[in-house]
Amino acid sequence: MTKIRCLAGFLLSYPSLTKVTNFLLIGFYISASFTASAQNQKPKPPSWAAPQEMSAAQRENFPAPLLEELGRIKEAALGDDYAYQVVAHLTQNIGPRPSGSAQAEAAVDYVAEELRRLGLEVRLEEVKVPHWVRGAETARLVEYPGQVPGTAQKIVLTALGGSTATPAEGLEADVVVVNNFDALRALGREKVAGKIVLFNEVFDKQKAEAGLTFYAYGEAVRYRGAGPRAAADLGAVAALVRSVGDADFRLPHTGWSFPAGIPAGAVTAEDAELMAHLAAQGKIRMRLTLTPQKLEDVVSHNVIADLKGSEHPEEMVVVSGHLDSWDLGTGAIDDAAGVAVAMEAAELVQKLKLRPRRTIRVIAWMDEESGGAGSKTYDKEHVGEFPRHVAAIESDSGAAHPLGFEAKLSKEAVEALRPAADALESIGANVLRESAYAPGADIAGMSEAGVPTLGIMQDGRTYFHYHHTAADTLDKIVPGELRENAAALAVMGYALAATKNPLPR
Ligand SMILES: [Zn+2]
Repeated sequence: MTKIRCLAGFLLSYPSLTKVTNFLLIGFYISASFTASAQNQKPKPPSWAAPQEMSAAQRENFPAPLLEELGRIKEAALGDDYAYQVVAHLTQNIGPRPSGSAQAEAAVDYVAEELRRLGLEVRLEEVKVPHWVRGAETARLVEYPGQVPGTAQKIVLTALGGSTATPAEGLEADVVVVNNFDALRALGREKVAGKIVLFNEVFDKQKAEAGLTFYAYGEAVRYRGAGPRAAADLGAVAALVRSVGDADFRLPHTGWSFPAGIPAGAVTAEDAELMAHLAAQGKIRMRLTLTPQKLEDVVSHNVIADLKGSEHPEEMVVVSGHLDSWDLGTGAIDDAAGVAVAMEAAELVQKLKLRPRRTIRVIAWMDEESGGAGSKTYDKEHVGEFPRHVAAIESDSGAAHPLGFEAKLSKEAVEALRPAADALESIGANVLRESAYAPGADIAGMSEAGVPTLGIMQDGRTYFHYHHTAADTLDKIVPGELRENAAALAVMGYALAATKNPLPR
């Protein structure tokens, strides 16, 4: 974690947020469906009057037998419940998997055992992870305009990851409500010191409903990430943020926050509204109790499993998701689903007895949610292999219907990969949208080292209803949609491992 204070730098420096910034900078990639013919090297303008044709290079990489295999993988995925069974076990049997927990380590063992059973070469890679455990978390307003004598208003909240603790009996302080960082700065130290600051940044539901969910998330999550530190810098005794999410079920959303040295929590949107309403009328005062603990770091693991390539086993295609989760729910959509579809990619290739030229490497990352120790370790240990990492894919935006892939690729690579995306057209997962940043926190380091990266682009409209809440549970996954995700990842992963020529950089 770098100590960059400016927000833009902060967003870019924290890997979990890179997927957010992708959405700030993307332009729609209009697919080059109308490719220049092999005979004519000059690019032709798009034509809606001509059928789509593969270029000579695309035909060389995607001969009919490979296209037929991609079709078989897709069909097999649409009738396969392997990924669902994996998600069910990870969530219902094992449960929440925060970094450093016994459940996270049980998940490591379960995923490793499953991948061994599928015939992959499995390795556990040691990762030192933080171990933070939630404690009591209660809050009530003890003074506010119109208060009925002898009563208090309950405030529903949860601690943010890494939060420090209040005294066991809690602390009591006046609350100041601000809508943004400018408003906090305008108050200055004089009006902030000794107070509890509430950042009441509203999640933009209209953007989310229009499909710009991650843009809305990017705007709001800055307050979760940087708000507590900004409040602490002006002498606040605690910081609260309005939950970063868009459902109206009075659910608090936890998440990572830059260590601020003061207790930090997220209140529900409803409770943020309540406090803003009362604060506009006069003084409000809160008793706040948060008693999380930061324990000793723990040795945990990335699970790395290779399905060896037949011709170029040293060349890798990474398919991945992250195994750790937040502790409030059971981490179904974030991100047991991602791990499960990556595992199913290997399961399908084995079941259909296919053998790609290159190695398909399944990775279940550890500690994406609280610092990214797993991917940082991998980047350090494997940087020498990155020139032979042909591509890396991560699924970490939920389990809803896939629309295609976000891709941080060169123009040549997008063009080269077009037939693989086209193979997913029948399930609507054929968009290849160019991204300025790696579409996944765990593959961001690889991307910076020049490895082409892709992320499944799910329909994100409901993702932030449940993200990082107690409601991220198995029932939020629609089995048919998870099967489509498995199809998308398996087809794309296999294509990258099977083409004659590796993906251009
Ligand atoms: Zn995630």
